[in-house]
Amino acid sequence: MNAPDLRQPSTPATTAIEHWIGGRATPGQSGRRADVFNPATGAVTGQVALANTAEVAAAVAAAQAAFPAWADTPPIRRARVMFKFLELLNQHRDELAHAITAEHGKVFTDAQGEVTRGIDIVEFACGIPQLLKGDFTDQVSTGIDNWTLRQPLGVVAGITPFNFPVMVPMWMFPVAIAAGNTFVLKPSPIDPSASLLMAALLKQAGLPDGVFNVVQGDKAAVDALLEHPDVKAVSFVGSTPIANYIYETGARHGKRVQALGGAKNHMVVMPDADIDQTVDALIGSAYGSAGERCMAISVAVLVGDAADKVIPKLIERTKALKVLNGANLDAEMGPIVTRAAHDRITGYIALGQQEGAKLLVDGRGFQGAQAGEGCDQGFWMGGTLFDGVTPEMRIYKEEIFGPVLGCVRAHDLKQAVDLINAHEFGNGVSCFTRDGNVAREFSRRIQVGMVGINVPIPVPMAWHGFGGWKKSLFGDMHAYGEEGVRFYTKQKSIMQRWPESIGKGAEFVMPTAK
Ligand code: NAD
Repeated sequence: MNAPDLRQPSTPATTAIEHWIGGRATPGQSGRRADVFNPATGAVTGQVALANTAEVAAAVAAAQAAFPAWADTPPIRRARVMFKFLELLNQHRDELAHAITAEHGKVFTDAQGEVTRGIDIVEFACGIPQLLKGDFTDQVSTGIDNWTLRQPLGVVAGITPFNFPVMVPMWMFPVAIAAGNTFVLKPSPIDPSASLLMAALLKQAGLPDGVFNVVQGDKAAVDALLEHPDVKAVSFVGSTPIANYIYETGARHGKRVQALGGAKNHMVVMPDADIDQTVDALIGSAYGSAGERCMAISVAVLVGDAADKVIPKLIERTKALKVLNGANLDAEMGPIVTRAAHDRITGYIALGQQEGAKLLVDGRGFQGAQAGEGCDQGFWMGGTLFDGVTPEMRIYKEEIFGPVLGCVRAHDLKQAVDLINAHEFGNGVSCFTRDGNVAREFSRRIQVGMVGINVPIPVPMAWHGFGGWKKSLFGDMHAYGEEGVRFYTKQKSIMQRWPESIGKGAEFVMPTAK
């Protein structure tokens, strides 16, 4: 049972990547397209359609038309579609992972992990009948009962970043759809193909046409979604300036918005930490997925004499990273996603030198040819390591979003916590220690949404919900988990009595329990 290949032949070497509206692949009509690259080779592999306002309106209309019947479908029947989708995802896991590696560049095994973390959310969404159970109070007043239930919002939109083209959309649509909404996804135009594979699998799972739609595109598509009166809620994941824009614009148009933004994640290394475990954790979390994860560690805060033990090993391990074509199963790190991102990251490395940080390992010298055959024109670099990074430097303050790790020194835990709490981002953080009291104090005092104790990338599991603090999240509800269910539903309270319980006469005072 294979998912149809939705990419249409365009030229002999490239494919046309289209929209998915009303249950079918829908060719773009706007006349605007963007090139899609394989970052490992630098080759153009496709042209993605960029939707205009009319195409977005068509997707929203399809979703709006599908909403009443889908919202009325009993939750257990909606859950059964999710169960079938889950089965298909497990069958097509590697196909999805290949699509990710081909356009994002991340190594295939990491892409498999991404798909698995997305599947976790589908498993959570399969439990929607339990999650939607309301509250009931018998006899709130004599002869009166009161209960609450949660109902879907209508058409909801998801706008997603390049760095997790499968997992981040799956933070959103399984929960939204299971809760009875219909969905319009606007994926990143950098790696758009996986969205169409997911759409085809949903259709194969029996999802009615129009419940899930994809509009490919850029700012024009996003603005059309933000302004459309039938879009009731917007989930966004991406960089902080755009998250802020989405939050403000969506709110101005009367929508419910959750907008997850950028990050600068610290790992505190206490002097008592197991050094080998710590170095493994730093290397994996700083350079995995070429540092292009919103939970990547980009700052190591080395407390006391931890630095003397950690730095020599970090230098050795950074130099030894296996930077290879992501399709190679030995690869630890693949290419950078685009030429522009490559330029931005190399610019930050030069800036770090100007700012006086000590460049211990310089990834700029890495040549694509070292990554494998055909990679000489790809967007390659090695891992970069700085020491002597200080809080006033831009390479400390700003999100680089690449394979660059900066080391900062701190005298003690308090200084480390104060440093992190003063940072404008608050997505993820980690502390490596053997001391239970340090771990407890750190977890309680830190002003960050997701905390790991001896866990470098503490991405919460599907039923816990994902979200940072400060400039890493605009809005008040986290993605997926029970907060996700709340975000995609509105509460209704119903009070009921029957004629036998109604006394005679009009009441003019505020009703109270009798
Ligand atoms: P991005 O902000 O450039 O793009 C995100 C989405 O917004 C894309 O769909 C893009 O097409 C759209 N977009 C871009 N510019 C826009 C504009 N001017 N107006 C309207 N829409 C626009 O982010 P990216 O480069 O794709 O992803 C990387 C960023 O995402 C990093 O900052 C990373 O930290 C962040 N991220 C955050 C989380 C989280 O959970 N907090 C998770 C993953 C990624």
